[in-house]
Amino acid sequence: MNTKDFSLSIPSRQKIISDFKAKGGKIAAVFPIHYPRAIFRAFDILPVEVWGPPGVDTSPAATHLQVYACSIVHCGLSYLMAGKLDVADLFVVPHACDSLQGLGSLLLDFVKPDKPVLTFYLARGDLIPATDFVVDEIAQLADKLAEITGKRPTDSELAKAIEREEEADQQLAELFSVRRFLPVSDREFYQLVRAREYLPAELFFRLAKEMLDQKQDTALPEIPLLITGILPEPMDILDRINAAGGLLAADDLCCSGRRVYPPGKSEQPYRRMAESLLLGPADSTRGSPIQARIDRLLELARSASVKGVIFYNVKFCEPEQFDWPQIKQGLASVGLRTVEIEADISEQLPHQAITRVEAFLETLS
Ligand code: SF4
Repeated sequence: MNTKDFSLSIPSRQKIISDFKAKGGKIAAVFPIHYPRAIFRAFDILPVEVWGPPGVDTSPAATHLQVYACSIVHCGLSYLMAGKLDVADLFVVPHACDSLQGLGSLLLDFVKPDKPVLTFYLARGDLIPATDFVVDEIAQLADKLAEITGKRPTDSELAKAIEREEEADQQLAELFSVRRFLPVSDREFYQLVRAREYLPAELFFRLAKEMLDQKQDTALPEIPLLITGILPEPMDILDRINAAGGLLAADDLCCSGRRVYPPGKSEQPYRRMAESLLLGPADSTRGSPIQARIDRLLELARSASVKGVIFYNVKFCEPEQFDWPQIKQGLASVGLRTVEIEADISEQLPHQAITRVEAFLETLS
């Protein structure tokens, strides 16, 4: 399957952070999920996302969080409390779900790190009032970033930052649309896709182009699958899927496929960023109607000719668990088979998950 090891050409988080700081930029540690990347880059701040990370000792956060908060929040807070995010100049907590909203409040009122903590709320509901609300949220973020950095980007700097992010988003969309024709393993594919979480957009664009240049004419022979849920962690799950003869040909994960934002339409920078976020794929954490989510999954399944759907969820993730029963019915109504796997990202991939993947792929072959 493999023609090139792309993981070798993707710089590490540490290198990107130190290079960016060496040039005078600042680092924002950003918790999931949706936020306007361009506004940070316009202030010469690199957003570096904190999806856990996996495998963290979660005991530091245990005194602050309920046991039924998800492992992304447990790992993220523990990581911060252990000083592993000290390199950040500020923290950003989007209000994606109750757990993240709770994390934002905890940081502001109890943990109180010695760096600014900013929150961001992505409105739900009808596009026009929601857009006005999000424009206002972005304006408030910009005011706070101006206080932190002591500068204000010009309109042309804002436009440039937006253009870079839109180009990177289009490149991400292209990667997903030709996934079956890219001769790389799922682990390599997702190492690049998820590098969008910390690479400057222009570097992501260049690396994505390198992978796209490897596109071949025939589809990979593995059984094409659609994955939905939050994030593919622990990443061993990807190796297990490939080893059992499957390939993730379509993506509806919160960390990746649901962040393929189309460009905004407005010429006004804040409005354009808001439109882009709100025009993104249907998502439980944005309060999208369940039918919109089913329609999107069916379209993804159709366009990638998938044979089955993996619901790979983080334990205690309420937004996803709430939607899944109806989504599962919608997929079953057109004959799509599904399997549910739950993971705690602070732990190793459970053996039961491996068995379920293998058994599921056997039923599809
Ligand atoms: S996994 Fe679910 S509950 Fe946890 S932060 Fe993400 S959306 Fe929220």
